[in-house]
Amino acid sequence: MKIHEYQGKEILRKFGVTVPRGIPCMSVDEAVKAAEELGGPVWVVKAQIHAGGRGKGGGVKVAKSLEQVKEYAEQIMGMQLITHQTGPEGQKVRRLLIEEGADIKKELYVSMVTDRVTQKVVLMASSEGGMDIEEVAHSNPEKIHSIAIDPSVGLTDAEADDISTKIGIPAESLAEARQNLKGLYQAYWDTDSSLAEINPLILTGNGKVIALDAKFNFDANALFRQPEILAYRDLDEEDPAEVEASKFDLAYISLDGNIGCLVNGAGLAMATMDTIKLFGGEPANFLDVGGGATAEKVTEAFKIMLKNPGLKAILVNIFGGIMRCDVIAEGVITASKAVSLKVPLVVRMKGTNEDLGKKMLADSGLPIIAADTMEDAAKAVVAAAAGNA
Ligand code: GDP
Ligand code: MN
Repeated sequence: MKIHEYQGKEILRKFGVTVPRGIPCMSVDEAVKAAEELGGPVWVVKAQIHAGGRGKGGGVKVAKSLEQVKEYAEQIMGMQLITHQTGPEGQKVRRLLIEEGADIKKELYVSMVTDRVTQKVVLMASSEGGMDIEEVAHSNPEKIHSIAIDPSVGLTDAEADDISTKIGIPAESLAEARQNLKGLYQAYWDTDSSLAEINPLILTGNGKVIALDAKFNFDANALFRQPEILAYRDLDEEDPAEVEASKFDLAYISLDGNIGCLVNGAGLAMATMDTIKLFGGEPANFLDVGGGATAEKVTEAFKIMLKNPGLKAILVNIFGGIMRCDVIAEGVITASKAVSLKVPLVVRMKGTNEDLGKKMLADSGLPIIAADTMEDAAKAVVAAAAGNA
């Protein structure tokens, strides 16, 4: 799960990381009031969307007067902000963050991630802040430093000072950098983050160390024990189909193709998408209905897939292990009738009660294309989608 920058900064502040004073706003009026409250002479108007690269896309503006705050807030609020992380359609700006301006002397980069190889939280840092870290990794990999943190000890003073020195923090600012890095580590740890990134972490003209940006990702499997983090969720920023799917406990990811996939089991779902692609098709989604694919779940899954105007055909690929094929057949029949299915539907099922399931589909009178193997099913659905294009 992702959150907004201003929420990330709220978390950082709680953990003792220095962040600029700022006020989140939902309207231009609020933005101007916020700027008055903060006091000048310099403010920063920042678009709040769940994507980075806002600066380059025109979503971060430095204002030198209240009139300019208003002008920029009017420009940014409601705009369709396009960055390299939003996709070509961009993301609508519904919230702003008004902050006091900072005197930037140097932009640095720091982040925490969980490293699967060392099975530790890794602190990464670079003197090259403000730009894409992927770019730095590509062009100047020697400028990225990292420390795998021992979970029984946490980030030590020596480690913090060593990495701070490597990224160019002067001796007189080391104590402040240490507090910020330790705070970032604790924030990451205590909130079950999977990424916590400050880019840029800045050094100001008078030697202060401040987090000017904040990006957090959280482990969705830990949200049950993080009610404060879950409360930060902003559904406006998420794919509506994925939000709808999550209500029914369906693991659904929107993709760019035109063949809807309904599969039980994540591994089979991925193999199904690969097979579709092998025969020249493009999946419209990843969908794992899980072990308990009831008629209700299958119906909801169909409804979600059918909301996609580009959908040309659906492939249902089920392995009946614990799940029985006759239950799936019943679900497919009920769902097809409930949504008065207009696109071709290919069904492949294998396993427990396979014969009964197939008979039910054949007897249903629905125009279902039955397939026996993965190859047959993929070929059939690719042909059906092409025929329906
Ligand atoms: P991102 O582009 O989405 O990563 O948004 P950031 O919050 O990182 O802002 C982008 C850039 O705007 C930063 O790298 C800074 O160069 C600039 N910026 C942000 N806040 C301030 C500020 O208070 N003063 C000045 N002068 N520049 C700022
Ligand atoms: Mn940034």
